[in-house]
Amino acid sequence: MGKIKVTFPDGAVKEFEKGITTEAIAKTISTSLAKKAVAGSFNDQLIDYQQELVEDGELKIITKDSSEGLQVLWQTGAILLASALSELYPEMHFGEGNVTEHGFYFDTDNVDGQIAETEFEKISQKMKEYVKANKTIEYKNLSEKEALAAVDGDPYRMELVKEIAEKNDGHVAVHILENFVDVSRGAKLASTKGVKIFQLLSVAGAYWKGVSSNPMLQRVYGTSFFKQKDLDAELKRRQEARERDHRVIGNDLDLFFVDPKVGAGLPYWMPKGATIRRTIERYIIDKEVSRGYEHVYTPVLANLDLYKQSGHWDHYREDMFPPMDMGDGEMLELRPMNCPSHIQIYNRHIRSYRDLPLRIAELGMMHRYEKSGALTGLSRVREMTLNDGHTFVTPDQIEEEFKQTLQLMVSVYKDFDITDYRFRLSYRDPNNTHKYFDDDEMWEKSQKMLKAAMDDLDLDYYEAEGEAAFYGPKLDVQTKTALGGEETLSTIQLDFLLPEKFDLHYIGADGEEHRPVMIHRGIVSTMERFTAYLTEIYKGAFPTWLAPQQVTIIPVKNDLHLQYCEQLRDRLVASNVRVNIDARNEKMGYKVRQAQVNKIPYILVVGDKEVAEDGVAVRRYGQANSKEVSTSEFVSEILADIASYSRN
Ligand code: ATP
Ligand code: ZN
Repeated sequence: MGKIKVTFPDGAVKEFEKGITTEAIAKTISTSLAKKAVAGSFNDQLIDYQQELVEDGELKIITKDSSEGLQVLWQTGAILLASALSELYPEMHFGEGNVTEHGFYFDTDNVDGQIAETEFEKISQKMKEYVKANKTIEYKNLSEKEALAAVDGDPYRMELVKEIAEKNDGHVAVHILENFVDVSRGAKLASTKGVKIFQLLSVAGAYWKGVSSNPMLQRVYGTSFFKQKDLDAELKRRQEARERDHRVIGNDLDLFFVDPKVGAGLPYWMPKGATIRRTIERYIIDKEVSRGYEHVYTPVLANLDLYKQSGHWDHYREDMFPPMDMGDGEMLELRPMNCPSHIQIYNRHIRSYRDLPLRIAELGMMHRYEKSGALTGLSRVREMTLNDGHTFVTPDQIEEEFKQTLQLMVSVYKDFDITDYRFRLSYRDPNNTHKYFDDDEMWEKSQKMLKAAMDDLDLDYYEAEGEAAFYGPKLDVQTKTALGGEETLSTIQLDFLLPEKFDLHYIGADGEEHRPVMIHRGIVSTMERFTAYLTEIYKGAFPTWLAPQQVTIIPVKNDLHLQYCEQLRDRLVASNVRVNIDARNEKMGYKVRQAQVNKIPYILVVGDKEVAEDGVAVRRYGQANSKEVSTSEFVSEILADIASYSRN
């Protein structure tokens, strides 16, 4: 046998016999390392601890305490799950298994009826048996024919085998645990003992290969850790995420719903959700108008030629709904963005340098054909209304306008009490400049300008190469979702390209025509994503000014106190307070609890004493006690509370 050269992360190079394993190499370094190690990373690919190395390459030894170590554990969890399932349900077919950000899953298709979470106990029991028996997980490199024979009868895995073989010279690497042959890639532990601490989590539908015209499989999720305390922490995190999840809260508080039968990704806003949305819409329009924006309305439909001219049809078609052929030669398209519409507004008149910056804004409805697997409640939908705005500026106004837009953003965040966010300056990828609008000087200059503006305003940010739009650099605001992902909420984007494509001009002080620059910006994102985000950060307990119902009035006895309650309600309604009387024939304690469950900011209880003294007993959401105040005091208090954000 020959020798191979292995390079370690510190740059050291050592020679070993060809066919040596990561485990054997780890042992030559130290026994304690060998004990902690679970796999190798060879030329940046995770490999089994006992896999033979047959060529020169770079090796990193992967230990339990690394994130790659967890990946290996989760891959092992996935095969353990699949193997247990195949013993319990011999007719079951299997798609792919893989790791997620927080654990693992396996896709299944059970001919005799799908798996329910009630069966988790039984499945976990079987998995534990395998762990206890410390069964070996075998790694084998098979020919396509052998692999096909091994998964015979399973249409999904056969398809996978063929795909892998085609890419891999007719070879298919498999892992075998008991009778289960796993063709999913990913390094695994050598035996089941390592997966002692695991938990099955949930089941959800997932299309085979993520394509909605394919059959729907059942994705079984689980997670596993090397230490019990890490599993406990993960379960706690999941519980907290559930409590924040806008889909759960949106359902409990009856804010919105999405019904795939009527249209996936097409949300319906129930009255309470609509009230929140209307409040946000009025707020942001007022705020923008006070800062020089001119709000417009433009159609969601336009002739397809508009999107050919803008370049969307060439570059963004995958995300667009197919055009509607009107039968008379006209093709209409649902817009995926509002920019071309606002350009029409700009072009409606001859513009002079004195008109600039020209700030056109709209709560613009748009449609994007997002992949069905990516759709999530209100945060990723197919029909959305963006708090959109396009500012047209002269090149030397860019920096000042950028700063003003940023200040608007920061002020809005303050009003909504948004504190957990990161600014990302997104540049073009310096190694792939051909992917971007071709003007090196423009890129250099504008990227520097954005950075200087951020420094000037003393704002913290990080820089991300390769995240720019193809037409210019941008600033994104990244926030976290309850589910642990990161999402862009707000964005400011410089654009040098669309003004060219639409041949935009302004007349300069010199009387000549010049090209303006466009700044695209979204402050509160789409109404959908923003409402989802707010629901999660407030856990459904919206601040008074946003709460769909701000006050509930509870009469102690309907026959004695209702009339007073009605007067009180009318007084509040006259001040635009959103208030209801709970006059149902229920116990008072029950009504108070209901108001708390619905997270209503103010609960007013009215009995003899309140009627006699023209007062109310006020209980704030989240507080255990109530206080007695006069009606006038209460009205002042709530109005001050509602006005506690700045309108401009
Ligand atoms: P993403 O990367 O999230 O798909 P994008 O970069 O395509 O977004 P833009 O075209 O800049 O987004 O759209 C402006 C804003 O609209 C985004 O910053 C985001 O907050 C919001 N948004 C985009 N797509 C969706 C969607 N499918 N559902 C809800 N909101 C969305
Ligand atoms: Zn735009």
